[in-house]
Parts: sequence; structure tokens; C-alpha cells
Amino acid sequence: MANRPLQCVVSVSGVRGIVGETLDADQVLALAAAFGRMIGGGTVIVGRDSRPTGEMLARAVAAGLQSVGCSVIDIGIAPTPTVPIMIAHHRATGGIQISASHNPVQWNALKLFNAEARNIDQAQLDSLLKLYNSPFNAHGWRTIGGWRAEFDAIDVHLQRIYAAVDVDLIRSRKLRVFIDSVNGAGSVIAPKMLKHFDCKVVAMHTRPDQVFPRDPEPTAENLTHTAALVKEANVDVGFVQDPDADRLAIIDEHGVYIGEEYTLVLCAAARIEAERNSGKPLVACTNLSTSRMLEDVAARAGASVMRSKVGEANVVDAMQKHQALVGGEGNGGVIDPRVVWGRDSQIGIALILEYLARKKKTVSQVVAEIPRYAIHKEKVAMDRLAVTTSIEKLAGGPLAKGATLDTRDGIKLIWPDRWVHLRASGTEPVSRIIAEAPTAGDAEKLAAQIREAVGAKLAEKHHV
Ligand code: MG
Repeated sequence: MANRPLQCVVSVSGVRGIVGETLDADQVLALAAAFGRMIGGGTVIVGRDSRPTGEMLARAVAAGLQSVGCSVIDIGIAPTPTVPIMIAHHRATGGIQISASHNPVQWNALKLFNAEARNIDQAQLDSLLKLYNSPFNAHGWRTIGGWRAEFDAIDVHLQRIYAAVDVDLIRSRKLRVFIDSVNGAGSVIAPKMLKHFDCKVVAMHTRPDQVFPRDPEPTAENLTHTAALVKEANVDVGFVQDPDADRLAIIDEHGVYIGEEYTLVLCAAARIEAERNSGKPLVACTNLSTSRMLEDVAARAGASVMRSKVGEANVVDAMQKHQALVGGEGNGGVIDPRVVWGRDSQIGIALILEYLARKKKTVSQVVAEIPRYAIHKEKVAMDRLAVTTSIEKLAGGPLAKGATLDTRDGIKLIWPDRWVHLRASGTEPVSRIIAEAPTAGDAEKLAAQIREAVGAKLAEKHHV
């Protein structure tokens, strides 16, 4: 019997849908079976975030993998980066994390990892989809794969973090830390790590058996309540994770949400500072849509910034090519290759604490030292093809006068103190405009100018 056609969003960053509408257990089982055939069998790590459909889909994923002879190691609820860490730990042939990341609770997704403990690439995704659509014989009873649970994956993850940062330095400061894990996959690991660092921990929403208390994306508008509680809690810093604990947002000691753009900037500052006299190349990598604050911070320390197309895989490619110390994206995703080649909010937290301890400064003080820009993000109703066809029009138009053009990923116009970037989303059927300028008014104006120049309309839910 042929598998049902997929109606969910499919990309290298995940196969994502609304459970019961565009993604079902039978499709997930078939996708996992196709994945198992694509990687040629072997051991596969399976993890999930805390959403209520996760357990059901984990069973479907395991069944699909076992049916094609893969052996499953189920690590239960764990951050997305824990899956590639366990692939490396067990020399497994692949991994599947069941998580729709920052999407609301009705969504779920498969994030697929290869034997290199990285997200699968486009060629692997293409071959998986081809296998999904082609008939095959499942294994008989003699050769189906095994299954076992493993409960110490987060400890393997934590050991890598403790080996990477100066634990004694962090402990010496006895920092007071607020953590909000949105009842997601960071709920156990993050407070455990903070206690290891001798922090005084104020934990909220660290119950993975409970549903998300709000729209789980760690944006300013979703965190007004949390920010108020951080202010009341009298702490040095507040951290907020997304449901699969790869993204990190920071709230300062006054209860001010400083924005996810600062997460990478501060973590990069921490890594560059720590390696300043090590003789290593001082390189940080990020994508084209991330704040230019990173260039300012890097320049101050004699480091350089390399930029890639948007997408974690592209950033990791650039990091490997340039032997970067640190990398990530402006959505609060920090990549430290000493831990894992993927975004990890746990190392993000550890690096921020290390930086605060080393600088003996508050969050608001270290933020005040960084040149300030305003970033404006919006979604427009425009598909990938429309973005591609608008590049030429924009490049020859009046808006591009005096700008440097980068067309590696949509189109980015860059001036000395501002930039604007239009690109098709990899996860939703819309496009994004991101603009950064010295003031919020300028950034918004720049976004409106590019939107009007290409004749696009704001998407229904246009906030990014
Ligand atoms: Mg995430």
C-alpha cells in the first residue's frame, strides 16, 4: 500500500505538521521507516520534547525504524541538541527528535540527524522522500530492530558543557538565576545544570508533564508575564527556553527582555574573550539575517565574523570551514562545537554565566557596552518563486542605490549602518523581511520600502 501524500511542511530543518490534520502517526511511522532505509539501518537515537503528542509519535517512529531493522535507543524527553550528542556518544547511524520547536502545542515535527550528528542535508531529505513514496518490504520477525530506553542522556550532554566552561569561575559568583523552560525539554536539564554551577535557582514552568503555559516561542510579546516575575525575583539574570531547548532568550536583572538577538552576541563575546590569548582563530559565524551587533563585538576583540545563508546547516558549514569558536542565529540559537554542531540553549546559558562571572558585570551593563540597533521583522505573503523573481527588480531599482547586494539567500541590501533582507521562509509558506538600523523607525521604514518595492502584502500573522 502506498503511503499517503505528505501535506505537512517538509524541509531539512524538519517535517512539520499539525497532528491529526496534516501529520498523523501512520505517516510518521512511514517517514521513520523511510529514514531507516535511507541511513541503511543501524542504531538510531530517538528523543522528543514534552508536547502531548510526543509519546505517541515516538512509538510510531520506533515502530517504523524497527520495521526496517534499525535498533532504537529512546532517550525520552530531551533537548533537541541531546539527540546529536547521543549519536556521537553511541556512534549511532542517525537520530530523530520529535519536536515542533517553538510552534504551538498542536504542531509536531520530526527533526532528522545523520551519522555525522548533524541535521540531514537536502540530498538525504530528497532520498528519504523518494523512499517514502516507493513500496518496500518490511522486515520479518527475525530481523526487526531492537528497542531500549536510556535515561542518562542529559547527563552525557551536561558533561560536555561542564568540560567546556570554567565551572569554578561560575561557582565563585553564586549567581541568582531565573529559569523558565516553558514546561519543555529543558525543564530537567537546565535547573540541574544551574544547581551544578552553585546558582541560586528560581525555576518556573519546569514541569514537562504539563502543557505549555503560553505560546511557547520566546519572543518579547509572549514573555511579558515572565519578565515581570524576573523583576520581582531579584535575580542576576533570567533565561527562557523554547520547547525543545535549542533557543534561548535572556531577561536582565531589571526584568527587561533584551531580545534573542543578544543571546548569540553575548555568547560570542564570552567565547572570544575566553580564547583571546589562545592563538586560535577568533572567528564567529552567523547567517545573513542576524544583527550586525556581532560584527561590533567581534571587531572590539580583534575577531572576525563570517556570514552564511539562513539555516542552521549553513551556519555549521561556515563554522567548520572557518574553524569558528562559536556560531548561531539571531533567534537565540547558539552553537558551540565543543558541545554539539547544533543550537543548544544549555551551553548558551553556561556561556552567559561564565561571561558575567568573568566580567563581574550585570546583564544590563554588558548589554549597554554593545552598540544598539533596532531590528524589525515581519512576514509577507510571498512565496519562494516570487522572492526569486523580485531579486532582479530590486537590484536594479532605486532602493538598491549605494547598497552592497548579497543574493545568496533571497536578497540582502547592506549599507554601512543598516541592512534589509528579504527571503522565503524555510518553515512556513511565507517570506520574511528583516531590517536593522540605528532606530526602530528607520528599521520599520526600510522594511516597508522593500515590501512596497516588491509589491508584497503583510501576511495575516505578520509578526515574526
Ligand atoms: Mg527550538
